[in-house]
Amino acid sequence: MTQENFKPTVVWLILKGKSEEALTLLAKNYKVNDPKLKVGLPKGRKIKAYGCYTSKNQTISVLNSDVLANPFVILHEFYHHLRSKAVDKMHRGTEKNADKFALEFIEAYKKALL
Ligand SMILES: [Zn+2]
Repeated sequence: MTQENFKPTVVWLILKGKSEEALTLLAKNYKVNDPKLKVGLPKGRKIKAYGCYTSKNQTISVLNSDVLANPFVILHEFYHHLRSKAVDKMHRGTEKNADKFALEFIEAYKKALL
């Protein structure tokens, strides 16, 4: 796979509900561990969100199975995974950067459709 069709492929896989495959591809590309993926947000969270990333167990949690096929949410949370790779395992990267990361993939996907 070339770098050119990497981003569109990732988005396509997520849209097809193959988010696990998409995450494996992302992890390979960025040379990080595969994050785990689970449906259902961790308990005790006050903020309502579609997804969240827990660096402690490297898990991306999504609100429900619909969100599992939402490229924006999956890619946004993957960005947090990418940024949490540092030794101290802190929640790295701002929300703004995570959104930007996700949008880059979605834009590449849209362009590939033209
Ligand atoms: Zn976030």
